[in-house]
Amino acid sequence: MNMHGMDEKTIRSILNDLKSKDTPYERVLSSMCTYPHPVAVAAHQQFIETNLGDPGLFAGTAEIEHEVMRMMGTLFGNPDAHGYITTGGTESNIQAIHAIKTARKIREPNIIVPASAHFSFDKVADILGIEVQKADLDPEFRADISSVEDLIDENTIGIVGIAGTTEFGQIDPIRELSDLALSKNIFLHVDAAFGGFVIPFLREKYEFDFTLPGVTSIAADPHKMGFATIPTGGLLFQDSSYLNRLSVDTPYLTVNSQQTLSGTRSGASAASAYAVFTYLGREGYERIVQRCMELTHELVARARESGIEPLIDPVTNVLVLDVPDADSVRSKLKKRGWDVSITRDPRALRLVIMPHLSRENLNLFADDFADVVKWTSAT
Ligand SMILES: *Cc1c(COP(=O)(O)O)cnc(C)c1O
Repeated sequence: MNMHGMDEKTIRSILNDLKSKDTPYERVLSSMCTYPHPVAVAAHQQFIETNLGDPGLFAGTAEIEHEVMRMMGTLFGNPDAHGYITTGGTESNIQAIHAIKTARKIREPNIIVPASAHFSFDKVADILGIEVQKADLDPEFRADISSVEDLIDENTIGIVGIAGTTEFGQIDPIRELSDLALSKNIFLHVDAAFGGFVIPFLREKYEFDFTLPGVTSIAADPHKMGFATIPTGGLLFQDSSYLNRLSVDTPYLTVNSQQTLSGTRSGASAASAYAVFTYLGREGYERIVQRCMELTHELVARARESGIEPLIDPVTNVLVLDVPDADSVRSKLKKRGWDVSITRDPRALRLVIMPHLSRENLNLFADDFADVVKWTSAT
């Protein structure tokens, strides 16, 4: 740290220089995050100093968080769902499994996740000391129910279903997982970090939420397709018993106990989610999601012109293309200024069609893609 303070203008100029090294989202097809909605940004700024870690001091902000949870609960089929605003899908997944582990006191507990699970479940295993078993996928990259069932043993405390997988955008058969969880008397956590703000707004209807009786918790991130500011994640439980088990005493705060993973917690996240949910409403989200789906299908058509097929028909706005030598295609696209990503198994090109992508830019991308694919297969 410098000894003497620096003037604000110089600081701003240094920060601007550094920010100019960041990649603007306009040509990014690899991220599940996007520009937050302007009303979310304004609300975030208004609540910048608030701390939900000490809600007695911030009664109004705490009310906002309750309201956001009620809105999310309603969206997911249970207005009485109980939860809190996390920093994102990772924290939501950790705390969901943490709550399950506390509910079932088993010496060497395990959970079963599909092989498509987000890497946050590796952190879950490490931090919580839980064995995380990976179930096979079916040919459409959904959790294979019989593989999940085969892995269940007397130490299994819960299973995980993914509604909108990070790599394929696929939705696991959550109804079947719900039936399985009920019949084995174990918990079912649904990781809808990405899909939570996509699936309810699709034309096609999928069952993935609390309307299924076996679903005990849901993770859904307002900071992905919800257009809230980062960090805003959401964790919801079927009822209050789960989080209550995580209570620790907080002797010097305005409230007596805390169930969250982090202590100090920005109320700006809650305010940003509240603002954008209320501003857009269901209709606003439907409009945006359906536009993303339209663009996704247009891109599929353009890829087919180059003889490239998607691995699955896109279910959400994630498109995985079966290109030969995906790694080389990726680096060639990077040289042309496009950020794309690769799936682990099989190695294919992964594109997330977020709202920051204009039709014009996607057409430019499709041109570059066709060119790169032509040259990659020619060499
Ligand atoms: C993005 C994502 C996560 C992790 O969320 P973070 O907000 O990055 O912590 C977890 N699960 C799924 C399915 C995701 O897509």
